[in-house]
Amino acid sequence: MKAQRSRDGTRFRVETVHEGGPRMRRARNVVAAVGYYDHPNRLDVPGEDLPHVSHYYYEPHACWRKPVVIVGGKNSAAIVALELYRAGATVTLVHRRDRLSDSVKYWVKPDIENRIKEGSIAARFGTCVEEIRRGALVVRGPKGRDEIPAEAVYLMTGYHPDPTLFEGAGVKVDPETLAPVHDPQSLETNVPGFYLAGSVVSGKNTGRIFIENGRFHGEAIVASIVRARRG
Ligand SMILES: Cc1cc2nc3c(=O)[nH]c(=O)nc-3n(C[C@H](O)[C@H](O)[C@H](O)COP(=O)(O)OP(=O)(O)OC[C@H]3O[C@@H](n4cnc5c(N)ncnc54)[C@H](O)[C@@H]3O)c2cc1C
Repeated sequence: MKAQRSRDGTRFRVETVHEGGPRMRRARNVVAAVGYYDHPNRLDVPGEDLPHVSHYYYEPHACWRKPVVIVGGKNSAAIVALELYRAGATVTLVHRRDRLSDSVKYWVKPDIENRIKEGSIAARFGTCVEEIRRGALVVRGPKGRDEIPAEAVYLMTGYHPDPTLFEGAGVKVDPETLAPVHDPQSLETNVPGFYLAGSVVSGKNTGRIFIENGRFHGEAIVASIVRARRG
């Protein structure tokens, strides 16, 4: 999708691509609610694109009795590790920091910490991935370089929004945080008539807006559009 102001500035030209091909629409207002899950935070290590490596998790049963490595230390990594362990995989969790994040949900945290403590799930803290090979992950941790067997690797390292979509429409984006400039009440950006809804408003700080608070954005945007039309 691409959105650009029309020459007279009163409309947007919105170009979309679907199975039927490209389509051009005209609109007075545009609301971008594109989230961030399409763009995983890559490790940028050799082997990241091998077929047994994924930034997305679907289901655990293909990993029954197989060695699996999960990379990350937040909610997704903890939940995926627990589910794979309970489905019969041999799980190792690799995290670059020295402990799991404090943001892991309070009912998940004791579960994962106790599974690590009892040795049901192996954990390598303070450990970074250097390379992914077929059947193994090469890591560097407090004891130096090591190889961990892995027939599947889940990189649960988060996601980030793609700012190019709104930058093309003239929306200013903070290069550090990827947060688009917007009014927090109306959710209108610096481009009049161009709005943002949902998690995309927070840029890289993806934990700030979720379903429970993002669901009010639609109402605020409609109110702002109605106000603008009434002048
Ligand atoms: C495992 C898991 C559990 C979660 N549990 C909870 C929970 O319990 N409570 C909670 O509040 N939140 C939860 N969340 C977070 C929640 O899913 C997100 O905060 C929420 O989905 C964000 O909604 P959104 O509409 O901003 O983006 P999304 O839901 O990601 O929707 C964006 C949509 O835009 C589409 N899109 C992207 N780019 C384009 C483009 N260029 N053109 C056209 N379409 C595009 C995408 O395909 C997608 O359909 C969970 C997330 C995960 C992964």
